Amino acid sequence: MNKRSVMDLDVRGKKVLVRVDFNVPVKDGDVTDDTRIRRALPTIRYLLKGGARPALISHLGRPKGEPDSKYAMDPTARRLEELLGAPVEKLDTAVGPEVEEALNESNGEGVVLLENSRFYPGETKNDPEFSEQLAAPFDLYVDDAFGAAHRAHATTVGVAELLPAAAGLLMQEELDNLDKVLLDPERPFVAILGGAKVSDKVAVIESLLEVADTLLIGGAMCFTFFKAQGYEVGKSLVEDDYLEEAKRLMAEAGERLVLPVDVVVAGEIEENAEARGTGVEEIPSDMTGLDVGPETVEKFRGYITEARTIFWNGPMGVFEIDAFAKGTEGVARAVAESEAISIVGGGDSVAAVRKLGLEDEMGFISTGGGASLEYVEGKELPGVAVLPNKEED
Ligand code: ADP
Ligand code: MG
Repeated sequence: MNKRSVMDLDVRGKKVLVRVDFNVPVKDGDVTDDTRIRRALPTIRYLLKGGARPALISHLGRPKGEPDSKYAMDPTARRLEELLGAPVEKLDTAVGPEVEEALNESNGEGVVLLENSRFYPGETKNDPEFSEQLAAPFDLYVDDAFGAAHRAHATTVGVAELLPAAAGLLMQEELDNLDKVLLDPERPFVAILGGAKVSDKVAVIESLLEVADTLLIGGAMCFTFFKAQGYEVGKSLVEDDYLEEAKRLMAEAGERLVLPVDVVVAGEIEENAEARGTGVEEIPSDMTGLDVGPETVEKFRGYITEARTIFWNGPMGVFEIDAFAKGTEGVARAVAESEAISIVGGGDSVAAVRKLGLEDEMGFISTGGGASLEYVEGKELPGVAVLPNKEED
């Protein structure tokens, strides 16, 4: 990563505004998945150890630019305090004299957690006045929210333009891992793509075709490819507007694009639906394709085992329902067993890996769903672009 890192800053005694991604699921006042909080701990600990006074800010959910107790940061504060093992002072505001006071009173042993940035209409508008208010009490800005870097908001871009800025340790790790795969992969490089929509992923496929040796395609999107090849796909999810695009991608990729050879079909998308495997040439017209089949898993496993680099985004089937989770599980196990450098990105793919308990077996799990895909597409992420390069001032 050529961006200035928090490690390049002199943080001792400094008031540091840290943009974290604490957009976590909350149910009945409790955080139900604290992964994102855990992943922010290294930067927080680094700052505390270095004698800084950090205040953290994040968005949570989609409140409408005004306070909404459903999206307050209190449950996050409690969990953060447990995980960090140090005091967390949660404020009911993100700007104003209270922030100043809390920072002045903090003795460098704990952190301040500001209120949800999306309680302010200026956040998503990247309003300069709101950014000024946010920046006012601080000496430095550290961005550790890779998952929010594809949004040009006040806490990701506006403040970064007003304060000396740097990437946090998680941001750095995310960029380093994605760059390793995209710029200089060890070969063979096998990319695995699944999920619901071709339309979401055309640009990702395009970009991966430039670097990957093989692209394995599963999930609902394979049915758009099958239909483009002239197969009957029954009631499977197809995006008819993308049939030409699918043909073009297949022509461009040739043998490097590998589609399933068998699929699991059912009459309904439900737990006790009668699911059965079938070859892709014989999908019944009244059935829906909901997973890749066992032969496909074996075929994909062959490529995965040979790979030295793997990028995986998108489940192979409707993994939320056990009857259609075997394809995703098979691929996840193959990636887990492989010795390749592996990166898993995408909200649902990561959820699937976690459900299988295979998180620790994967090389790197990206915290950025949309952000990691946009990065792979080759788009410049506003929250990354705004950070100064190493030598700049
Ligand atoms: P990610 O969040 O990892 O990028 P996506 O959001 O693109 O993944 O896709 C995930 C969704 O795709 C899951 O909810 C899953 O149920 C759905 N899906 C996968 N295969 C199929 C299929 N054959 N038919 C319908 N939905 C599917
Ligand atoms: Mg998703």
